[in-house]
Amino acid sequence: MSRLGSNKAAIVHPLDGSVWLRFWDNIHIDASGCWLWLGATNDVGYGVIGANSRNHYVHRLSYAWFVGAIPPEGDLTIDHLCRTTLCANPDHLELVSRIENFRRGHEARKRAVA
Ligand SMILES: [Zn+2]
Repeated sequence: MSRLGSNKAAIVHPLDGSVWLRFWDNIHIDASGCWLWLGATNDVGYGVIGANSRNHYVHRLSYAWFVGAIPPEGDLTIDHLCRTTLCANPDHLELVSRIENFRRGHEARKRAVA
């Protein structure tokens, strides 16, 4: 987990090296509009892409590129509104507090069981 760094990690600019091209090489847009990541994943199933000697979360890069920088303060995380962990469509991503993200995940699980 530590290799992925914290919220404060510098975000890779799309024009830095080949990251932008490698991003699109590994994205498949499915019928529901999800941008599914086909590349490497970490041990909890999130897409990662290596750049500048470290791994970056693909959905966080996408958010930063298409929506805006993720503030380092405020304990914020990115929620997948489509519930597809490998999705990197910025329209399916929302910046929320970790508590809110946990609450949403909890309710989604409850609905799945019901
Ligand atoms: Zn999606």
